[in-house]
Amino acid sequence: MGEYRYQQNPLVVVKAEGPYLELADGTRILDGNGSWWVSTLGHNHPRLVAALCTQAQKMCHCSLADITHEPAALLAQEISAIAPHGLDQVFYTDNGSTAVEAAVKMAVQFFAQEPNFAARKKMRFVALDGAFHGDTVGASSLGSIDVFRKIFAGLLFDCIHIPVPSHATQTYSAFEALTQIVTQHHHELAGIVVEPVVQGASGMRMYDPMYVRNLRELCDRYNMFLIFDEVFTGYGRLGTMWASELANVVPDFMCVAKGFSGGVLPMGAVLTHRHVLNGFNGGREHAFLYGHSFCGNPLGAAVAREVLAIYRDEQVLAGIPERHARIQSMFQQLQQSPITSRIVQNTRSLGMIGAADLSDTTSGYTATIGWDVYHEARTRGAYLRPLGNTIYVSPALNIPLSSLDQLLNIVYESVESVAKRYVT
Ligand SMILES: *Cc1c(COP(=O)(O)O)cnc(C)c1O
Repeated sequence: MGEYRYQQNPLVVVKAEGPYLELADGTRILDGNGSWWVSTLGHNHPRLVAALCTQAQKMCHCSLADITHEPAALLAQEISAIAPHGLDQVFYTDNGSTAVEAAVKMAVQFFAQEPNFAARKKMRFVALDGAFHGDTVGASSLGSIDVFRKIFAGLLFDCIHIPVPSHATQTYSAFEALTQIVTQHHHELAGIVVEPVVQGASGMRMYDPMYVRNLRELCDRYNMFLIFDEVFTGYGRLGTMWASELANVVPDFMCVAKGFSGGVLPMGAVLTHRHVLNGFNGGREHAFLYGHSFCGNPLGAAVAREVLAIYRDEQVLAGIPERHARIQSMFQQLQQSPITSRIVQNTRSLGMIGAADLSDTTSGYTATIGWDVYHEARTRGAYLRPLGNTIYVSPALNIPLSSLDQLLNIVYESVESVAKRYVT
């Protein structure tokens, strides 16, 4: 923290608009990661700001306890209309971590209330190596990134972590290994929690959608819930509205946040199906007693409705293929050019994500070469915060093409400039 407080030179941002962050000295820099992936429609989209102001004049907040209100009710209807088939029950939370917490608690409580006595033992979870599901204690329990987890290990609930297929050829063997674990432990397993297809925080790691398909079958076979954390992958990040569409699979729980409110307010939700809801009937003690003060708050709900309207009206998903092509081509070039290829490995892209691993003597989340690129990019006019030695872009889905080209140029030049220092 000493280094952070006294040696860093934070950017003082005074305004944010579209793909730009404006600094106190008047310079504008491109936001390469859409403010940690939340700003899917660009900063301060005028329609989102208007929706927020209009709602604020009517009602900023009121609890959802024995009360409902139009923004929350209509949002639930509108999101379930476009959610994977059958996910028509919406439970509001106030961010991604608590969406995951709520899903986990619902899964456990569902089984605890099962008439079938044997099912009541189901309260453990399986998650993937490299998983990130948020920073609260429950969400950290599912996570497996060491720096976020190690210190708190004694406090976290027990979770079985399994290897992720890092290459298509490993999809089958990784699934076989998982099947063995599940065959052995299914009596006590409530569910499998995954970031489908792309693991964001562990370094934009991508895996075969086929693996996700297999998870569905395994969960059906062994009476376990399939929980998708689409906090990052949802809202078009991978080119389709939901990552589950890439695998043609419907989970039992889908957690959303980040793009849910277009990065305007903290807001999240868990979607599930009616069968799960039915597990909470039969007496007051069977209810799901869970609720944050700001669950489903009207401001967030009004904005989240407008987000969906903008996706429809502005055909946001239709603009992704041409943006993806540019992202893909620049990252391929990083791997091919003689200079940048000295330090670049494993370039990959999907939808509105492009990523590359940089080789360095240190590795993991605390590696520093990504930060060398960050500093280069900053002097060239882009904010490009790395994930350890992984550099990536994950901009607003509607970033203007000219801004995207500019951003990608800056990434290229910044990597090239760092690569030149690594001449042997
Ligand atoms: C960011 C993130 C979370 C946590 O969301 P918060 O709103 O920051 O609590 C959970 N899961 C995934 C996959 C994320 O990327």
